[in-house]
Amino acid sequence: MNKIIVIAVFILMGCNQLTNKPVSAVMPDSAIGLKIEKSFISFRIGVPLWTSEKRCNEVFNLFDKYKGVTDEITFFTSNTHAPLPLDIFRQRTGILKQRMEQARKRGYKTGINILTTIGHHNENLDNSLKGNYTFMTNIDGAVCSGSFCPNDEHMREYVRNIYQMTTQANPDYIWIDDDIRFGHMPIGLGCFCDNCLTIFEKETGKKYTRESLKKALNDGPVEEKLKIREAWLQHNRNTISRLFVLIEKTVHETNPVMPIGFMTGDRFYEGYDFDNWAKILAGPNHTPVMWRPGGGYYNDNNTNELVGKSHDIGRQVSALSEEVVSVQSEIECFPYQRLKKAANMVVLEACSHIAAGCTGAAFNVLSFYDEPLDEYEPLVARLQEARPFFDLMAKSLGRSAISGIHTFWNKNSFITGKLTEGDWVSSGNPVVSHDIYNIGLPACYSGNNAQVTILGKDNIFALSKVEIKNLLSGGVYMDAETLQQLNDMGFGELTGFEIVGSENKDRIEKFTNNPLNGEFTGRERDNRQSFWKSMAYTLLKSDNKAQTLTTLIDYTGKEVSDCTMGVFENKLGGRICVAGYYPWIFMENLSKSSQMKAIFRWLSKDTLPGYIASFQKINLWIREPQNGKIALAFTNSSFDPAKKVILMLRTEMKNIRLYDMKCRETVIRSTGSDGPYQKFIIPEVEPWQAGLILNE
Ligand SMILES: [Zn+2]
Repeated sequence: MNKIIVIAVFILMGCNQLTNKPVSAVMPDSAIGLKIEKSFISFRIGVPLWTSEKRCNEVFNLFDKYKGVTDEITFFTSNTHAPLPLDIFRQRTGILKQRMEQARKRGYKTGINILTTIGHHNENLDNSLKGNYTFMTNIDGAVCSGSFCPNDEHMREYVRNIYQMTTQANPDYIWIDDDIRFGHMPIGLGCFCDNCLTIFEKETGKKYTRESLKKALNDGPVEEKLKIREAWLQHNRNTISRLFVLIEKTVHETNPVMPIGFMTGDRFYEGYDFDNWAKILAGPNHTPVMWRPGGGYYNDNNTNELVGKSHDIGRQVSALSEEVVSVQSEIECFPYQRLKKAANMVVLEACSHIAAGCTGAAFNVLSFYDEPLDEYEPLVARLQEARPFFDLMAKSLGRSAISGIHTFWNKNSFITGKLTEGDWVSSGNPVVSHDIYNIGLPACYSGNNAQVTILGKDNIFALSKVEIKNLLSGGVYMDAETLQQLNDMGFGELTGFEIVGSENKDRIEKFTNNPLNGEFTGRERDNRQSFWKSMAYTLLKSDNKAQTLTTLIDYTGKEVSDCTMGVFENKLGGRICVAGYYPWIFMENLSKSSQMKAIFRWLSKDTLPGYIASFQKINLWIREPQNGKIALAFTNSSFDPAKKVILMLRTEMKNIRLYDMKCRETVIRSTGSDGPYQKFIIPEVEPWQAGLILNE
């Protein structure tokens, strides 16, 4: 059956109306090319709020009072993070069957969120699953008693049981939570149990103990380490695939059209195999698959974490095929204390994640106690108010690709962690800081849609030499460590620079007289190496076409390096910028942010889809034009209003429409052009507000 047709039917019908029979309707060809008519919005409801019928009715009444605040009501199976004993699970799905019938009567789609399939971590162990199951095991043999190995046959039997019970409760959909991963407190990354090592032996033909595998992953020549790490990521992908085959079969043998959703985070260690996992969960009938990308942003103490989560989410969405249409960002306020995150920030968070690629949001923001929801009512009211804007955003942006500046990553990026020393399984996130996007440069999460690629130290070890050469024939911004690695690998002719010195203290960057520095010749940038440790590099131009953008001076003003940042166009037509002084952070003054915008526009050969030319803290996501239609969204990520925001947009169109969060429209006419860019001036954006821009 055609997958696209089935998804279209799913959207048109609403999943609560699906029967247990496979969908057989044939849609006309015009239905192909999915249109999203409104956002996919759900609320996730904790166990204490649904156990008693009285309390659950209060929840329903609250949603009824603020009609439109949600379309889907999703019930958690558990309030704690280790798997439940089977008898408890059976009891709960029995109650949920009734609760879902009640929710449907009130017009909601409703489903079950299985919080613990294999378990997250040690919590409430006394009342959790016990038996002959293999614990999640780390490379030193330590175990997590609240999470189990998905390759254990007994555990797989348990999983079969709980998914059977869930499907038999007749939900409209089933969500798998983000315990399907290999990072579990307190052991860190797994699973290195004996059985997993035996499976790895079958996959690779090599036999390892935990000790010998650890040695192979951490010691020896880089090439060999990379190879075995890559094999281990594939092993992780396979483990999750096998588990999903089991879940898909179990669910779909009872209900062949049951949509299954999966919640993720930035899953580098798991091999980021989202497109394949989605295919598996769709099963042979190509049932719709839903996705819930997530990350950590639980309170608004640190506002920069909001957009940080949007970037993590954008990356996750970019790994999904366009056929996954219900992409609901996780919005979570755990442990749900109302004053931890302002209602306005909860709303902005949903907008920001939709801007970064989602088509809706799953709100996990209500109490996890059996208590009245009075204190949550203003939040629910605020979300109802914002719903038309969520809908407008989702409808306008859809699942179209985001283009701009790609902070490099691929499915193998994790293999490069702690490459020269240290324990691989304690590596962190392999992408560089996203601060560069805070000054109005357009974020992009996939190399397929990028005009410029950002490379940080070790990134290139996840690429083949052919892929590296391809990158270097386009626009690339890199740090000095990457320059060194590329030169060592034999790409010196394409980079234009060499490193000839470095200093870890008391250096200041000074702007040269170069057109890319505009009016800022002689300006300085001092990032205080004595506070924020970072090496300042001296570059040598290895090709006379290379140009210097900044030099280094010391604290007396004396020049101590004649080049720390420069640009070069190589013989492949690739444009390179090497930044040897704080390449990732501290871009937030006028001279540096202006220089960076000029550099990125130059690197892209004026193909960057747009940017904010004025000096403001704005995050920007621009979609690839669909049939000539422009769509983009932005947030004013500041406590100050942004006045006279200059949006440079690569278009010939002279008029754009701006929508604020109340869906009020303003038509803005171009005030002129600069190369292929039209200049639009947005009069004012209030603090912590999002905007949507479409063309007429
Ligand atoms: Zn295992």
